[in-house]
Amino acid sequence: MSPLPTPHANWSPEHTAAAAAEIIQPAAVSALLEETATVSAGDLRDILFGAARGRGLSLPQAATLLQVTDAAARERITTTAQQVHEHTFARRVRLSEPVCPTNRCVNDCLYCPLRRSNTQLRRRTTAARDLQREVIPLLDEGYRHLTLVFGDSRIGPQYVRDVVDAVYALRSRTGRVQRVDLNLNASAPDELAVLAEVERLGTYHLYQETYDPETYARMHPDGPKANYAWRLTSHDRACQAGLRDLGLGVLLGLHDLRFDVLALLTHAHYLLATYRPGALTVSYPRLIATPGAPGSTETQWLVNDDDFAFVVAVTRLALPLTDIILNTPAPAEVRRALYAIGISHVSVGSASYPGVYSADGAPEGAGRLTIGRPRNLETLVYRMSEVGFVPDFHAGASDLDPAAAGDDPQAARQALDRKAANSLLALKEYLMDYASEDTQTIAAGVIQDELARLSKKVRDQTLERMEETEAGFRGQRL
Ligand code: SF4
Repeated sequence: MSPLPTPHANWSPEHTAAAAAEIIQPAAVSALLEETATVSAGDLRDILFGAARGRGLSLPQAATLLQVTDAAARERITTTAQQVHEHTFARRVRLSEPVCPTNRCVNDCLYCPLRRSNTQLRRRTTAARDLQREVIPLLDEGYRHLTLVFGDSRIGPQYVRDVVDAVYALRSRTGRVQRVDLNLNASAPDELAVLAEVERLGTYHLYQETYDPETYARMHPDGPKANYAWRLTSHDRACQAGLRDLGLGVLLGLHDLRFDVLALLTHAHYLLATYRPGALTVSYPRLIATPGAPGSTETQWLVNDDDFAFVVAVTRLALPLTDIILNTPAPAEVRRALYAIGISHVSVGSASYPGVYSADGAPEGAGRLTIGRPRNLETLVYRMSEVGFVPDFHAGASDLDPAAAGDDPQAARQALDRKAANSLLALKEYLMDYASEDTQTIAAGVIQDELARLSKKVRDQTLERMEETEAGFRGQRL
């Protein structure tokens, strides 16, 4: 990966603050929300007309939609999001799993049980060579896409790099990891340069948590993460080091969601315009009350399922090609709605702590970084298939492919067909290698339905590859 030109090569505190102010001015985000607090029926129609064509939303348009409270208007917004999502993602839902190699952390985030002042937690770090005990069980379950979640252990980029290399080098009897993403704290240019040398590194996820400086300061009283501007400029340094796939996120529940979502969209617009990344993903984890994390219970901003779904719908309209990740639990009926209106990726993960998958970890109450409830992969595959979604094990190219939303309908159709076909081929492999007869049967129906939607040429090619898969070949893709 080659570094990009650097608008901010100097990361002194003064320049970091100046760079952060170029990305977001919190007062301007608040002012925009005030200016767009009401919307006429005509304005709403105009906004949705453009958004339905996959043109995205300007920031004033996004601010306007985020503040809609009328149930009928929200319904129209959600229906439009569904059309846009269907066009670009065609019922595919990517599946990945978090792995947590260390629970050591020098920060003290009030909403997280891994914070350093939680003395109830037994700390451990898994050596890169021991990661197989964590990863092989996941490969044997069918996972191919992992996210390595690091706290802020200050163990250094070489450890992170060794862990990523070790994970890519592992082989189980059934396969190997195809994509490794990182969830990592803010890093310096020299640390990112080490990571940029990793071959096939996936997405660099870093969540701002909240873009409101006052809430940020209260929730991060100590440790390096207390530096708001340094965190906000992390993706700039990552891009300048040569990382191409970026993940943004806010922890819904810390502050007013309209402010935080609009600020995140502002950040996304800035990164897309400044660096043209290979891929951009958005995550909206929701705050969950957790022992050992007082900031997870003392909040007035908890987000209910309806508001969460609405935020996903507005984000889908604002960023039509962006992967939106679901990484906290939601009831089954809510998940189904989310897959339809905007969620394109599920981080299946359950509790995440070192040793969770090898059953030799320390899941004591205060020691869990609760990302969600434990879920069995095959159960999820079954349930998705049952309601017509395609569990996507193809951990390939990003969805920022401009052809998918370009003005050339033929190129757009070809791009979508290729992605859909590769997802079906990866699903076929999963079913043959891991799934029970019941799951195979229900997912076979989805495969048939999706094959029928492909152009004849792509359908024929896909069927040919499927025959090869049935004959024992693996990795067959278009
Ligand atoms: Fe550490 Fe991350 Fe938890 Fe903060 S949220 S305490 S940085 S693991």
